[in-house]
Amino acid sequence: MGKLRIVMLPYLAYGHITPFLELAKKLSNRGFSIDICSSPINLSFIKEKIPEKYSSSIHLIELHLPNLPELPPHHHTTNGLPSHLKQTLFKALKMTKPQFHQILNDKKPDFLIYDIMLLWSGVVASSLNIPSLNFYTVNAAIFSYFFHFYYNPGEEFPFPALYMRDYEQAKMTHEVVDDAEVEVDKDNVTESDKFVLVHSSKSIDGKYMDYLCGTGQAKVVPIGTQSPEDDVGDLDIELLKWLEKKTEHSTVYVSFGSEYFLSKEEMEEVAYGLELSGADFIWVVRYQKGEQVELPQGFKERIGERGRIIEGWAPQQRILKHSSIGGFVTHCGWNSTLESIEFGVPIIAMPMLYDQPLNARLMVENGVAVEVPRDENGNLDRLNIAEKIKHVISDETGENLRKKMNNLGENVRSQREDEMDGVVEVIQLLIDEKNSQK
Ligand code: UDP
Repeated sequence: MGKLRIVMLPYLAYGHITPFLELAKKLSNRGFSIDICSSPINLSFIKEKIPEKYSSSIHLIELHLPNLPELPPHHHTTNGLPSHLKQTLFKALKMTKPQFHQILNDKKPDFLIYDIMLLWSGVVASSLNIPSLNFYTVNAAIFSYFFHFYYNPGEEFPFPALYMRDYEQAKMTHEVVDDAEVEVDKDNVTESDKFVLVHSSKSIDGKYMDYLCGTGQAKVVPIGTQSPEDDVGDLDIELLKWLEKKTEHSTVYVSFGSEYFLSKEEMEEVAYGLELSGADFIWVVRYQKGEQVELPQGFKERIGERGRIIEGWAPQQRILKHSSIGGFVTHCGWNSTLESIEFGVPIIAMPMLYDQPLNARLMVENGVAVEVPRDENGNLDRLNIAEKIKHVISDETGENLRKKMNNLGENVRSQREDEMDGVVEVIQLLIDEKNSQK
């Protein structure tokens, strides 16, 4: 029998594509052949990220979004997409339904794995008798949070540590999912629709997985975290030399991910916070086209050799892996959070939007992060930023967090293969189930 073939359909955002690609690599290591379906602009990003050894097992399929006047082709990805166009992109993606039907009909894969944001694609697969699974590209803690409010509106969430100040922010993620759910035939939900893959590991949020499984409504299957490729990107030689001069765990790495742009006020608070902390740092600064947001005047001169600014994009994993890094000032995007766990770097959490505040709480709950408190108006404050950085870099807080982070990293690594066994079992079960119905 030839290799089993899986088509994957991720949502068009780096934060979703990255975990899909990790899953593709893991499944290809288990003998599956994978086709990733996405818009050409995303495929060029994906192509660069596929290591040579997967070239015969991971393939790409182009999905052409309609040419809407308000959404030119260079906007067929959320990366750098102005926020008012996010819903438009989502709608354009949904308009590819007949095309996606054609792709599945031509390819006749054994299985489909699709993004939970794109529930319509599972319906397409089902109409062609192709078994499928949906993938929630963040963790079970967040999934359980929304699941609870969806099925038990008005009731208190049973895990108070995750209660968040900015529920409204997190809800924004789910409005899109709600929109996608419209076309799902709720009367025809089968056993297999209850399985949900999550991008996490039992060691990180196992109690939330158990809670979801206990409801009988959602069987959560963690895919485990990824092992980084041997080559996690190159460090520019000048930056490497600079890092080599720093003492162990003395330097913070500061980044707010691929989507978020700091406002003028936030840029100032972070800059002065770093300055006041006295810590060495690498800060990835991103500027939004057309916005007048700049570093404070004279900042670079005042910082001198203490800091390095990287404009645009940094080899994040390579930096986190370096022994001089002692803390990660992060927005707690889920990929960044998992990378911090992988490389044993304590988190100084500054969540901004969507799932980030909940991710930050989950890390604090795991004892591997401190969160920078905001002022009474919800704004960032330079003194709070400086204080938390100082704690992590200069006193025993950092050492305690690091010990727990290293433990957590060891636990997720030790579960990695078992968790993938679980994923393969579920895929096989659903394929067998479908075959027995034919
Ligand atoms: N990333 C990177 N260099 C950068 C910024 C981000 O390599 O300068 C990578 C980072 O390692 C992570 C991903 O982009 O894998 C960001 O995903 P995350 O979920 O943390 O945040 P998002 O970008 O979705 O807000």
